[in-house]
Amino acid sequence: MGVVKATPEAIARAAELIRRGKLVAFPTETVYGLGADALNPEAVARIFEVKRRPRFDPLIVHIADPREVEGLCERVGERARLLMEKFWPGPLTLVLPKRRKVPEIVTAGLPTVAVRMPDHPVALELIRRAQTPIAAPSANPFGYLSPTTAEHVYEQLGEQIELILDGGPCRVGVESTIVDLTGEEPELLRAGGVPVEELERVLGREIRVSREGDRPRSPGQLPKHYSPRTPIQLAEPGQAAHTQLPEGKRVGLLLFRAPGVALEGFAHVEVLSERGEPREAAANLFAALHRLDRAGLDLIVAELAPEEGLGLAINERLRKAASSFKRAGFGTPSARADDKRKIRGDPG
Ligand code: AMP
Ligand code: MG
Repeated sequence: MGVVKATPEAIARAAELIRRGKLVAFPTETVYGLGADALNPEAVARIFEVKRRPRFDPLIVHIADPREVEGLCERVGERARLLMEKFWPGPLTLVLPKRRKVPEIVTAGLPTVAVRMPDHPVALELIRRAQTPIAAPSANPFGYLSPTTAEHVYEQLGEQIELILDGGPCRVGVESTIVDLTGEEPELLRAGGVPVEELERVLGREIRVSREGDRPRSPGQLPKHYSPRTPIQLAEPGQAAHTQLPEGKRVGLLLFRAPGVALEGFAHVEVLSERGEPREAAANLFAALHRLDRAGLDLIVAELAPEEGLGLAINERLRKAASSFKRAGFGTPSARADDKRKIRGDPG
C-alpha cells in the first residue's frame, strides 16, 4: 500500500491494521514511528524483525491520554505527574515500573516501561482509534538515521510495512528526551526534544546523566547509532568551514549555522539554521544528513552545536553518528572500507 496521506479515512484504516496485529508507520512531532499494538507480543515481535533491532533494546509505548499511564505503570508518583502535566503531549518519555499486562518483549525483559504521549494530531487519533497503546521505535533500520518524512520511511523500510501515514515533516525532528524515574534520583537516559534544563527547572533539581553500562538501557546509549553510511568527522563550532580538504575526495559539510567565510571545495553543503537557532537546526538535522548520505561523498564534516538546550540533543546524535568512524580519518581508504563493512553487517 505504501505511503498514504493521513486523512481521517487513512487513519481509520491504519487503526484497523494495528488492531489486527499489523505494523503502521506514522508521524509524531519527533520522528516517524513504526507502530504495533503494544499489548500484542506477536505484533511487537514484527517491529524487531523489520527494523533488525536487537531484542535487548526496549520500545517506547505511546498513549493518547495521560490517564492511560496508570494502566501500564505502577507507582507513578508526584515527579511523573508533574512532568506529564508540564510536558505532555510532547517529546518527553518517562521510564516507570511496569504492570504485568505490558508484554516482556516491549520492555526487553526489564521491569520498567517507557511511555510517552506524542504531540501530533495524527499519532493521537491513530492511538485513540486503535483503542490500544502503540509500541513504536523510530521507523528506520536499527542504527541508521531516523526518518523525519514519510519518504525517508519508504526509502528505508518500504514494502515491509502495511501502511505509511504521511503527515508531512516532523516539527521537532529529534527523538524524545528520556528520563528514568524509577530510582531515588531522576536520570537522563537520552537528550532529546525537551531540553534537560527545562526539566530541571520544573523538578527544581539537577538531573543526573546516566552512566553508560550501568544497566542495559537506551540504544541512545549504544556507542554507534543514528549513523549515515558515509563516514562522519566532527568539528568544533565555527571550525568546520576551515577543515583541510583531502585531495581527490568528495567532502560534504554539515553546518550548524551560516558560515562567516566563503566556502571552497566542498561537494555538498547543508546549513541546519542560518541564524544558528537550535530548534530549527534540530528539526532539519536528520533530513540534512539523509541528503548528505545520498550525495555520493567520501566524508561528511559535521559542525557541533553549542552544548546547551537542544544543542545537546543534536550533538549526542552527531557524536554517535561519528563514533564508528573515529579512527578511519582522511586518506585511509582501507580503514574506511572496513568500517563500511562493519556497519552493513551490524544489526542495523
Ligand atoms: P527509539 O524508539 O528507537 O527512539 O528508542 C527508544 C528508546 O527508549 C531506546 O533508547 C530504549 O532503550 C529506551 N527505552 C525504552 N524502554 C526503556 C526502559 N524500560 N528503560 C530504559 N530505556 C528504555
Ligand atoms: Mg531509534
